Amino acid sequence: MSVKGGGAKGASKRGRKKAPGASAREAASRAKEVVGRLAREYPEAKSALVHKNPFEMLVATVLSAQCTDAKVNEVTPALFAAYPGPEELAAARPEDVEEIIRPTGFYRNKAKTLLALSAKLVEEYGGQVPRKMEDLVRLPGVGRKTAAVVQSTALKHEFPEGPEGVAVDTHVFRLARRLGFSDGKDPDAVERDLMKIVPRKDWGDLSLRLILHGRAVCKARKPSCGECVLADICPSAGTF
Ligand code: SF4
Repeated sequence: MSVKGGGAKGASKRGRKKAPGASAREAASRAKEVVGRLAREYPEAKSALVHKNPFEMLVATVLSAQCTDAKVNEVTPALFAAYPGPEELAAARPEDVEEIIRPTGFYRNKAKTLLALSAKLVEEYGGQVPRKMEDLVRLPGVGRKTAAVVQSTALKHEFPEGPEGVAVDTHVFRLARRLGFSDGKDPDAVERDLMKIVPRKDWGDLSLRLILHGRAVCKARKPSCGECVLADICPSAGTF
C-alpha cells in the first residue's frame, strides 16, 4: 500500500502524475490538511442516527445497513418505545420486531441480529454495551465499523483520545481511495491505512465528515470536484 512509505514504483520517473500518497509523510501532511478543511466545512460532526444512549446507537447502526439514516430514524422511536433496553429486546417476539423495522429492509435478518445481540448483552455484559473494541466486535452483527461508530458517537465522552478504529463505510472507503490515502481493496485495509496517517484523536470526526462530504460533494457516480474544498490537494480531482 502506498502510504507505507515506499511510493508507487517508478510512477513519477515515467513522467506520470505522482502516485497518490507517494510517501507516508506526504500522505500524513495532506491528511492533516483534509482534516482541517473538512472540520471548517462541516463544523458539526454528528451522526444523523438519532439515539439517546450506546444501546440505541448500536441498534440504529445495525439497522442502517443497506438503508438510509432517515429511514432508520423513522422506525427507532417505535422500536425503543416497545423495547427500551437489551432485556426487553432479547425477550421480544421476532415477528413483532420484524413488523416495526420492516421499512429498513432485510428486516428478518436484522430482527434476528438484534435479538441475538441483545441476548449477548444481557448474558455476558450485564445488559450494558461493552466499551472496548475487542468486546464490541464479538457481538452479533457488530464489526469494526459499527464498533468505531458507537465509540465515536454515543461513547465519545469515554474516548477522549479517540475511538479504537476508523469507521469505514462506503463513503469513507471511496473518499480515502480518491484522496490517495489508500489503495486498499476492502474496508479493513483502508482503515489500516487511515490509522497510519491520521492521529487517533481525529479518527471519529474524520469518518463522520468524510461521510458528509461523500454525500454532499464527492458522490459515488458524479463527484462535484469543481465545488470541492479539497480539489487542489486531491489527486483524483477532475479525473472523472
Ligand atoms: S476533488 Fe473531486 S474526487 Fe477529490 S475529494 Fe473532491 S469531489 Fe472527491
